[in-house]
Amino acid sequence: MKARRAITITTQSDEAIILRSSKATTAVNCPQCSVEVPMFSPEQAATLFRLPLRQIYRAIEAGQLHFKETAGGAVLLCLNSLKQLPSLAGISSSQNQNR
Ligand SMILES: [Zn+2]
Repeated sequence: MKARRAITITTQSDEAIILRSSKATTAVNCPQCSVEVPMFSPEQAATLFRLPLRQIYRAIEAGQLHFKETAGGAVLLCLNSLKQLPSLAGISSSQNQNR
């Protein structure tokens, strides 16, 4: 049950990220979730989730991430969709199983 283990690990690290970053987080009404969720700029998301910025943009283009454009033209990414990124789970499990 490798998959289940990976999901548990991912959830734990997500919670740590949320706690650490809660001060800097903006709660925005995600158009796709229809609820208020913390939303991040692509740069913030890349830092928080330790992903290459390019991968974030690729996920946006692939429709894997919810996003909202602000009036100023900046893009905000929905935390819910960030947590569901398949590549994010892959990174967590590869750290754990890396031998
Ligand atoms: Zn969302």
